[in-house]
Amino acid sequence: DVAVVGSVNIDVIVRLARRPQPGETVHGEQLSHRPGGKGANQASAAARAGARTALVAATGDDPHGARLRAGLAHAGVDVSRCTTVPGPTGTALIAVTPDGENSIVIIGGANEHLTAVDAWPAAACYLTQLEIPLDTVVAAARHAQATGARFVLNVSPAQPVSPELLRQADPVVVNVHEAALLLGAAAQTMAPADYPAALITEGARSAVVTLGAAGAAWADATGAGTVAAPSVEPVDTTGAGDAFAGALTAALARGVPMPVAIADANRAGADATRWHGAVPWD
Ligand code: ADP
Repeated sequence: DVAVVGSVNIDVIVRLARRPQPGETVHGEQLSHRPGGKGANQASAAARAGARTALVAATGDDPHGARLRAGLAHAGVDVSRCTTVPGPTGTALIAVTPDGENSIVIIGGANEHLTAVDAWPAAACYLTQLEIPLDTVVAAARHAQATGARFVLNVSPAQPVSPELLRQADPVVVNVHEAALLLGAAAQTMAPADYPAALITEGARSAVVTLGAAGAAWADATGAGTVAAPSVEPVDTTGAGDAFAGALTAALARGVPMPVAIADANRAGADATRWHGAVPWD
């Protein structure tokens, strides 16, 4: 079983010819509302990969919150640990221009009120990211450690984490940008394939670095290597990293070795580039 502790967002996406200058008004085309938030995306991916998956999250007391919880439940996620807090559901305002470039404003909303819960779900693996208060991530790590569960830490959005938290990560899961931030100046003299071993030197128990179309590199106590991703024609890479992390954790919860779990995760990540939006439902 997998427990995901993380964010739930409504993504409000507008396509526009060009982004406005300060003080300027422009007309947008094609407004859409899509489920998002790294916690929701990763829980959806873990459930899709076949794991019994519970999401610990907070949504607002607005219609978006209820709709997102219903969508997650329909996607096979146990939402009984999702709480409703007063105020807005987390929201991402996303402006997309024809060059494919995104400008994003995140309103944390209810995600900022996700506190440690009294009754954590029972799980073989815990998976968290950093769109929720760091105290809650630390509490989840402590709970995982106390119950012998594996703690998977996706350091995304990129921000520095304490050595204590990194030491719990088994694995830490990051893309190349996030890995470079964690490794600092040392990353400049390294090939990305060497990042996982360097992250272990920094304290992580094991490490996985996603390499986009090239798949992912890993290192743990049993060895290290790179696993190629299936070749696809990407339509929209939004949520590929989240699909990867969710499927990876689902596989690790089954107890398979890291390279096998990464092959599963690469399939899920590559798959997620073949549809618009972060999850294959709305
Ligand atoms: P992020 O989306 O967080 O920046 P990556 O770009 O590294 O992370 O993508 C995460 C994972 O998604 C990759 O490890 C791979 O499995 C899959 N993926 C992403 N882009 C592609 C692609 N163009 N072709 C195949 N797989 C991809």
